[in-house]
Amino acid sequence: MKLPSFDIDLDKHYNATVVIACVQCGHENRHHLKALSPDHTLRCQCGSDISMNSTAMLAAQRRVSELKQAYRIP
Ligand SMILES: [Zn+2]
Repeated sequence: MKLPSFDIDLDKHYNATVVIACVQCGHENRHHLKALSPDHTLRCQCGSDISMNSTAMLAAQRRVSELKQAYRIP
């Protein structure tokens, strides 16, 4: 199964936002990491379903802790 490519953003309150690129149209869908759960399906504006499985969720969480370390956020 192909995983969606994603990026992590931290907002000024250090909430992690996952930016998931739609495989169909390339639109970047932003969601708070806290609001995501594994295999929960998101709907892109083009109508495609996007889902982050547990592997992708773990990768996202790992990326967040790396970012926080880089910015020295407790
Ligand atoms: Zn799309």
